[in-house]
Amino acid sequence: MAYKDYMIRATAANDSIRAFAVVTKNIVEKERIANHYSPIATAAIGRLLSGGVMMGDMLRNESDVLTLQVRGDGPLGSLIVTSNNKGEVRGCVQNGDVDLPPNASGHLNVGAGVGKGTLMVLMDLGLREPYMSQLSLQTGEIAEDLTYYFAQSEQTPSSVGLGVLFDKEETTVKASGGYIVQLMPDTKKEVIDRLEENISKINGITDILRENNTPEALLEKVLEGFDIQIHETKDVYFRCDCSYKKGEHILHDLGKSELEDMIKENKPVEITCAFCGKKYEYSIEDVEKIRKTLD
Ligand code: ZN
Repeated sequence: MAYKDYMIRATAANDSIRAFAVVTKNIVEKERIANHYSPIATAAIGRLLSGGVMMGDMLRNESDVLTLQVRGDGPLGSLIVTSNNKGEVRGCVQNGDVDLPPNASGHLNVGAGVGKGTLMVLMDLGLREPYMSQLSLQTGEIAEDLTYYFAQSEQTPSSVGLGVLFDKEETTVKASGGYIVQLMPDTKKEVIDRLEENISKINGITDILRENNTPEALLEKVLEGFDIQIHETKDVYFRCDCSYKKGEHILHDLGKSELEDMIKENKPVEITCAFCGKKYEYSIEDVEKIRKTLD
């Protein structure tokens, strides 16, 4: 069977645990190629993409949009992921060519790449004001930062595991994915103890993905010893909604003097989408038209 990115939603221990798991190899590899990301940039955005696509599944309506923004003082700059509950996700890294030495355990040092800063969770639920939550980054390793968000902003005790595995030469993404496990109120102590024991035995989820690159394999490890009921299996995709029209809005927002400088240069203007790498070209006539709307 051909490999496919997909996620599952499950419950366990008489519905006292709810769980999500996803594999995102194709999505992450696509982003890496489109934007020429370095291994550490790929690992950072890959983790955030996996987290984002699972959190997108928690949204109620198809038109709801989730945005995760990680703004750290590390060399990677900011990271953005948007997703929805249709399994569509996209992401970008500000400085995607950053290279750093590995951390003490020989892994890509995502925490150092991200640095200290904030995690912003924004949910556009079609209401007048979007829901917004902003928290300090805990480690910059992404999974711990999302765990902290669930505890602080949603008062839901959670465990989040995220990982991106490269081939030996770090040239292509071999596997990528993650899980979110959450405790419902009044979960029995023995359930919590068992879950904590399971999680403590996992040495990084890339080891699980290396053996079996499926969301089922992740949940079988995390929820070992529990009866797992899978309620939904859903394909997930990279999808960018950039367009020629949206590029015009970006030019418009640059303002009059910036556009006048472009017109003076008398060269077509190219805008590259930061998410998918697609290029849009605007002729001087196009730019002049936009410039005129600002009078
Ligand atoms: Zn795009």
